Amino acid sequence: MKTLNQNSFDTLLQDAGIKSRLRKDLKFVASTAHLIDSWNEYELLCIADRTNDKGVLLLQPASTLFVAPYELSRTIVDSKTGRQRAIICDFCYTWQPGSNAASITFTHPDDKRHIRFLCCGDLKCSQHVRTITSASIVSRSQLRENLSNEDRVERLKMKITELIDHIGARSTTS
Ligand SMILES: [Zn+2]
Repeated sequence: MKTLNQNSFDTLLQDAGIKSRLRKDLKFVASTAHLIDSWNEYELLCIADRTNDKGVLLLQPASTLFVAPYELSRTIVDSKTGRQRAIICDFCYTWQPGSNAASITFTHPDDKRHIRFLCCGDLKCSQHVRTITSASIVSRSQLRENLSNEDRVERLKMKITELIDHIGARSTTS
């Protein structure tokens, strides 16, 4: 993913038609960008507001960067037991316990339809597929999938491409 600073991030959100209220709420500061020293290892990056349950997803499965506003709900409850339920992320296929399970909702820009997916509560899918998080290591033993990190990255890119199409995410030119 291309490197962003505060200015290029603001421009990007404007280009993508993100509402000014959300733009103001997003706490993306230059210091955050400095924490990310491996932009090329991100296909999906979430920038959240203060409540941590809404923000924008930056999506870059190939050379074009897309922006999609989202809302997150961190309570996935089993209707039978009433307990928090473990999930498998729809994007990176990481198994997540109830404590890090979420559902993400997008609103299609054309028909305002809500589209939901199950996802990692931390949205660190790009790190999970590279097996650099403890959650990904736990997931490997839960799912017993025999895939290389490269294959997982490829699968994530494919899922993101489908996602962009499905939710009508806007691309940016800057
Ligand atoms: Zn994930």
